[in-house]
Amino acid sequence: HIEFRDVIKRFGNNTVLDNLNFTVSRGERVTLIGPSGSGKTTILRLLMTLEELTDGYIYVGEQALQYEQKDGKRVRVVDKQRRRTTTQVGMVFQHFNLFPNMSVLENIIEAPIHVMGLPKAEAVTKAEGLLEKVGMGEKRDFNPSQLSGGQQQRVAIARALAMDPEVLLLDEVTSALDPELVGEVLGVLKDIAAETDISMLIVTHEMQFARDVSDRVMMFDQGSIVEEGKPEKIFSEPENQRTRDFLRAVL
Ligand code: ATP
Repeated sequence: HIEFRDVIKRFGNNTVLDNLNFTVSRGERVTLIGPSGSGKTTILRLLMTLEELTDGYIYVGEQALQYEQKDGKRVRVVDKQRRRTTTQVGMVFQHFNLFPNMSVLENIIEAPIHVMGLPKAEAVTKAEGLLEKVGMGEKRDFNPSQLSGGQQQRVAIARALAMDPEVLLLDEVTSALDPELVGEVLGVLKDIAAETDISMLIVTHEMQFARDVSDRVMMFDQGSIVEEGKPEKIFSEPENQRTRDFLRAVL
């Protein structure tokens, strides 16, 4: 599970997350919606330890990310433990972020071999299975530059899954795609949601996708959750005025 407890994140004087509390259970799919700048991406980046939190605690599984309580004091978690924690969390980015100088297959086996210590043959077998799953089996020896955006993003999804994450973070994974390529990526993600019990934290502007895969939707504004609930409820009968205004603008 994921837990944010009393999380504060500031960039200089700009308080982006203001005493944020929420949990995501094992296997739960939660979508974050809200206006630009409301702090959604920052939440994902904190979970990937791409940002440092200003105050509070973030737990993934049993482990504190970045800080933990020891002998009544709040201490920094040692680097070794941070790395271990990070491997439980996989992220897919808006701009794919594949290694450009590696083939599709090499992109996927890189972390399993060098971070998890998987033998190469095993990593390759696993990667091939994942490439089949995302419909990219025939492209294993291609370079990312030879692929469409949708294909690159499907490789990025396979790469994240290759680390056996407990949690998959999806940050506007279709925003950089041509409209006709959005469906293939969302289709792959829907299959993964249906076939696995990976927790997902999703930032998306694709409201139909959010409806289809989410167990819960959290509406953010100015670093706080203003409303949350099941997608049917949030999308059909939002109670908060800011949620209504936001949905009216995006739907
Ligand atoms: P969007 O939908 O536009 O991606 P968001 O809800 O994901 O928005 P964030 O990207 O989390 O919002 O940004 C929240 C706030 O944090 C914004 O005001 C942004 O300017 C600020 N911010 C984010 N990253 C940094 C950074 N590295 N340095 C300074 N300010 C930052």
